[in-house]
Amino acid sequence: MALIVQKYGGTSVGSAERIQAVAQRVKRTVDAGNSVVVVVSAMGKTTDGLVKLAHEISANPNRREMDMLLSTGEQVTIALMSMALQELGQPAISMTGAQVGIVTEAAHTRARILHIKTDRLERHLQAGKVVVVAGFQGISSIEDLEITTLGRGGSDTSAVALAAALRADCCEIYTDVPGILTTDPRLVPEAQLMAEITSDEMLELASLGAKVLHPRAVEIARNYGMPLVVRSSWTDDPGTRVVSPVPQPRPLEDLEIARPVDAVEFDVDQAKVAMLRVPDRPGVAARLFGEISGQDLDVDLIIQSIHEGNTNDIAFTVSQASLKRAEAVSSAMIPALAAGTGSAAEDAEVMVDGGIAKVTIAGAGMIGRPGVAAQMFKTLAEAGINIQMISTSEVKVSCVVEAADCDRALAVLCEAFEVNSSPARIDTAQAAAQSDAPPVRGVALDRNQARLAIRQIPDRPGMAARLFELLAQHNISVDMIIQSQRCRLMNGLTARDIAFTVSQLDAEHAREILAAAAVELGWGEVVVDTAIAKVSIVGSGMVGQPGVAAQMFAALAQEKINIQMIATSEIKVSCVVSEEDGVKALQVIHAAFGLAGQQRIEVPA
Ligand code: ADP
Ligand code: ASP
Ligand code: MG
Repeated sequence: MALIVQKYGGTSVGSAERIQAVAQRVKRTVDAGNSVVVVVSAMGKTTDGLVKLAHEISANPNRREMDMLLSTGEQVTIALMSMALQELGQPAISMTGAQVGIVTEAAHTRARILHIKTDRLERHLQAGKVVVVAGFQGISSIEDLEITTLGRGGSDTSAVALAAALRADCCEIYTDVPGILTTDPRLVPEAQLMAEITSDEMLELASLGAKVLHPRAVEIARNYGMPLVVRSSWTDDPGTRVVSPVPQPRPLEDLEIARPVDAVEFDVDQAKVAMLRVPDRPGVAARLFGEISGQDLDVDLIIQSIHEGNTNDIAFTVSQASLKRAEAVSSAMIPALAAGTGSAAEDAEVMVDGGIAKVTIAGAGMIGRPGVAAQMFKTLAEAGINIQMISTSEVKVSCVVEAADCDRALAVLCEAFEVNSSPARIDTAQAAAQSDAPPVRGVALDRNQARLAIRQIPDRPGMAARLFELLAQHNISVDMIIQSQRCRLMNGLTARDIAFTVSQLDAEHAREILAAAAVELGWGEVVVDTAIAKVSIVGSGMVGQPGVAAQMFAALAQEKINIQMIATSEIKVSCVVSEEDGVKALQVIHAAFGLAGQQRIEVPA
């Protein structure tokens, strides 16, 4: 007999009929000889409705009261679901987060789960009942009983955390699509179902906009090795398995508060090529990386930042053995780029640096914790180490530093993040040889981001740290951090621009904080653009595979879509484009990687 946790999302329980249909499925699972815990969301779009209602009363509602309000949605569903099961002759009982004993941090509207007291729930299971638990909610402590919520979409996280705490055999997430698809079928109906995806890939996809799973749910499944399946609540099809590596054993205390950093990694076989002042128009990146991959050169990091005027800088890293050829290809492109454009492009130049290293911190515990990246920058700054390039993903932050600083960087990072094991050397070629995964598994669109740029940040160690610490103090998470390669002389000091993206909800707040610090920290104007969209490709098979990024850029160029920013990490490439180009960009990239299937995915209304 297995213990199964089944989670049903809003659409799956959107009406009385749907609740009855779900109850039938739950009963079938019990009749097949299993114990079942059911976790449910609020019915349909109830939570959205409650948020709207709150904003009719207050522009900035109190967070505690917000949790009090939003947690009611799930409470309706648990009672109805329990009744529906009882109608079928299946003993069942509903429980709120408080009744189960789901204890979280006190941070209202975004609490992380600390631990779950399972004995009460287990007594009901042993008595032969199905236990129906309200997702998305918890309490701040057994004494205070303050109701908290986990953040929008958080019922997935409730379910996987409960499965881990109960040591269940598996956790099944039931939703309105057949499983995890190559992209959002509402935007690309030709999206295809995947039978399987790794938790690393899913973490990236979820954090880049694929809302089919809450990223923190994937994190818990990965940390505890919990088998996780996503399937449709309308059919009996098997859906998608999310596979995790065998985890290190870990306690069930501090479930979501694992150490933020598990490993410090480095790669000394890196060289940098920067192309300065290339024209800002569709097709430039496609052409450059097309030529580079034509030479079979594998590019690791790519960043492209925005500028005033009509030029961009593009920087990328390659292995040291590839530097000469990468430089030759880049230099050869300059005359073609400048031809026929204004004077700015004629100033284009190529700069190379053969003596760089990449240092990386990695760990699923950094999700949603803006302070971790800031701490890395601060640690490097305090050691007097200048950061040349930054690349972030949901579970990694990498900094390119001077090669001579690498050993010192590793030592201070291991100490700061209490990583005792010696740093791991990244061997891209070996990783590529081991991987038979397709280069691109999925494509995601995030339309909720805004871009901020700070002009003329003094170029000295510690500035990135100060900047991101400031934002972290206000709990603002930053994504796609890009430092320009171009230095300018400002009052005798060199200065750079830094651009990054944050959630649109945080954009204005972030701008205020940064503008207020401008005089003290000596930086210039802070510019916000909310009319952007971020498209990303994700796949562990892109490691060590030349040409994947080039193919993405080419697809955009063909549609004349201009790329405003580029950022890559090992298993993803993200491009910022204008908001109006977002959906088209997603569609052409999905098609370009041959991800479209024959069957159109129908999403229930
Ligand atoms: P639930 O209410 O069941 O939690 P959500 O609306 O949170 O459901 O998530 C399911 C939705 O996620 C789908 O209807 C789909 O539009 C969207 N989605 C985005 N990206 C993907 C993807 N890669 N695969 C499947 N669904 C996706
Ligand atoms: N009802 C909550 C929301 O809409 C939680 C969830 O559905 O996962 O965000
Ligand atoms: Mg959801």
